[in-house]
Amino acid sequence: MSSERLRNSIKDYPDFPKENIIFKDISPILADPELFSDLIKKISTYPFANDTEAFIAIDARGFIFGSAIAICLKKPLILARKQNKLPGKLIEKSYGLEYGTDKLSIQEAAIMPFNKFVIVDDILATGGTAKCVIDMLKIKKKEILALSVVIELTELGGSRNLGVPVYSELKY
Ligand code: AMP
Repeated sequence: MSSERLRNSIKDYPDFPKENIIFKDISPILADPELFSDLIKKISTYPFANDTEAFIAIDARGFIFGSAIAICLKKPLILARKQNKLPGKLIEKSYGLEYGTDKLSIQEAAIMPFNKFVIVDDILATGGTAKCVIDMLKIKKKEILALSVVIELTELGGSRNLGVPVYSELKY
C-alpha cells in the first residue's frame, strides 16, 4: 500500500468540532475501495494481528477498521461501546478525550473466552480512549498485544502512557 496515497486521502478540518482541534477525516479512505482494502490487508499481515485471539474495536470509527481486519483474518470482533449501548453484564470505565469526557463498556461474556487481544481505532490522539480499553482488559488480566490505529497524532504523546506497542499507519 502506498503511504503517500493514504496520507493524501486524509482531509483536515480546522476548528472542528471545537476551536483549536484539527479534525482528521478518515472518510476518504472508505470512499476508495482499493485504498481501504490495501490498508486492511497491510494491517492484517502484522504478526500481532495473526497472534491475537480477538480484536476489540472502539466506538465508532474503530468499528469500521476493526470489523474489516477481523473479517480478513477470520477472527472474533468485540465492541468497546459508548455508555448505554450494550446489554448484559458490562465492564465500564470513564475516560478523558481531546475534546470532552466519555465512558466505554465491554460485555464481560464477550471477552471471557480469550486471553490475547489487539485493540483497533481510527486515531490515537491523547490516548485516553485507548487507555480506557487497556485498563478494562487489564482488570480482567487479559494480554494486549497491540493497539492498531490508522493515524497517530504524535505531538499529543498518546502512545507514551499506554504500556502496549502502538502500530500506526500514518504519523502527524
Ligand atoms: P484520544 O482518546 O484523545 O486518543 O482520542 C481518540 C479518539 O478521538 C479516536 O477515537 C478518534 O476517533 C477521536 N479523535 C481524537 N482527536 C481527533 C482528531 N484530531 N481528528 C479526528 N478524530 C479525533
